[in-house]
Amino acid sequence: MPTIQISCPKCGKKDMLDLNDELLELAKRSGLARIGFIHRDHVLILDIDTSFAVRGAYLNVMEKLFPNIKLMFRDYKVIFYPQIKVGAKLVVFYPDKHFVDIRACGNWLPNIYDILLVGVKIAEKARKYSWYRGETRLFGENIDVASTNTTTILFSSAIDNWRKKTQILKSLCKELSANNTLEAKKLEEILKRYI
Ligand SMILES: [Zn+2]
Repeated sequence: MPTIQISCPKCGKKDMLDLNDELLELAKRSGLARIGFIHRDHVLILDIDTSFAVRGAYLNVMEKLFPNIKLMFRDYKVIFYPQIKVGAKLVVFYPDKHFVDIRACGNWLPNIYDILLVGVKIAEKARKYSWYRGETRLFGENIDVASTNTTTILFSSAIDNWRKKTQILKSLCKELSANNTLEAKKLEEILKRYI
């Protein structure tokens, strides 16, 4: 699969873009495929045409993105829409499939680059364990971590009972490895059991 290297005009960060069928389909469907790479305080957006030529490059911030952008963090596909608002914040990593779901990340959005950086690192280390439970601290906030072979969750809520939070994380991991997707309804249901 051919890839091209993208160099960000703002921060100099380099990303690899796979010129695959999915990208071609996207370009065919809407004339241009719009790809966004998440960098620390900005998103580099590229318009790619059906012959894989870069037709435009723009910078934007996460809070102002439109849903028509296929978002990437390094080589991870990022699921961003439709956003899920529940009584907790969470980001879910699927290291095998190289995708991450940030639909329920709430007010982590402006800091999502750091969340993704930490999360990918944990997810790739923790995948060798069938169960891992820990904690990390980012921007003055304690963030709960839970991981299985297939899924890693970064979680934050108003609950301060470790045991309760572990139960929530266990339920979430079980649900995610069964269905491979985060559903707003299911998420609410799990949280309601403990909050
Ligand atoms: Zn950049």
